[in-house]
Amino acid sequence: MTQPGPALSVVVPMFNEETVLPLLVERLRTVLDGLGEPYEVVAVDDGSTDGTAAALAGLRAHWPQLRVLRLRRNSGHQAALVAGVLRAGGGHVVSLDADLQDPPETIAEMLRVARAGQLDIVYGVRADRRTDTVFKRWTAGLYYRLMRRLVGKQVPAQAGDFRLLSRAAVEALRELPERTPVLRLVVPWLGFPSGEVTYLRDERAAGRTKYPVSRMVGLAADSVTSFSAAPLRFATWLGLAGVAVCSLLVVVAVVAYFFGATVSGWPSLYVAVLFLGAVQLLCLGLLGEYVARIYTAVQGRPAYFVASDSADGPPAGPATAPTGGEPAGTAGDGGVAALADTLR
Ligand code: UDP
Ligand code: MG
Repeated sequence: MTQPGPALSVVVPMFNEETVLPLLVERLRTVLDGLGEPYEVVAVDDGSTDGTAAALAGLRAHWPQLRVLRLRRNSGHQAALVAGVLRAGGGHVVSLDADLQDPPETIAEMLRVARAGQLDIVYGVRADRRTDTVFKRWTAGLYYRLMRRLVGKQVPAQAGDFRLLSRAAVEALRELPERTPVLRLVVPWLGFPSGEVTYLRDERAAGRTKYPVSRMVGLAADSVTSFSAAPLRFATWLGLAGVAVCSLLVVVAVVAYFFGATVSGWPSLYVAVLFLGAVQLLCLGLLGEYVARIYTAVQGRPAYFVASDSADGPPAGPATAPTGGEPAGTAGDGGVAALADTLR
């Protein structure tokens, strides 16, 4: 495939990040300008409601390599990432968070490692998580251990969404029928040759986290259900164990009946009813998680809508488009083209 795009695309999903934006631009631009290669920065504005859109529009006037992809509404970090990665045109595509927890300086090393080893994927791996809270460290440790068990050892521990993908890897992602793949699992699963670059994860430079516990739980549930039917099997094993225990209890009940000791014993009945009720609810819940995903997949709705892409709209440079487009970075409606922009 011919590749007319720049050598490098950097995708940055952002949701209400106006406070970190100036800090990000300063560091990211210094690094990228220093590479001496053509690049683009795809800022994915995930339906921000603060001044992010206006700030990005203002920045475009001074930074021609900045491309702004505005999603019509907040669609979540993974959807925003996928939107940016699939639209990026670079020979290599690096994704990083807007809050400077992933140091932009590492991008140069990622590129070097990818080129030196002819690798399609380079993961940014956190050397330690000293800057994270104890809770985050503990839950993340549990998450990566579980995922390596379910998906396989090719999932690097402590690698989030700071990674480099080759054009071939991006095209492979495009082929997937999933609406919102959990990238940190799907990318290793693609099986491309990969490498790692370790880095120190900094603290968020400004603003607050956009990942409340509910979203972390959602990501974990998506991760497990998209790669494993183990919870369903767990339900089956629970059912089998229940049958075994109940069979034993039936024998006990019959013996007790013949010995005339059947009146007392309400605590065991009470405990058994409660226990079985809880187990049944748990299994129903597990089943429900999968049914919900089948339901969403069958509905087939796009995970995000692109309201505008500054690369499509009236360009900041020489104009080739017909008159009447909307200015880059505004929340206007991209119309039919945007509607047609599904994940696939
Ligand atoms: N983000 C996004 N959409 C969302 C939530 C977060 O694009 O709905 C972006 C956010 O702006 C940041 C990145 O995803 O660039 C990671 O989010 P955050 O730093 O809040 O997560 P944490 O590092 O606390 O896990
Ligand atoms: Mg962060």
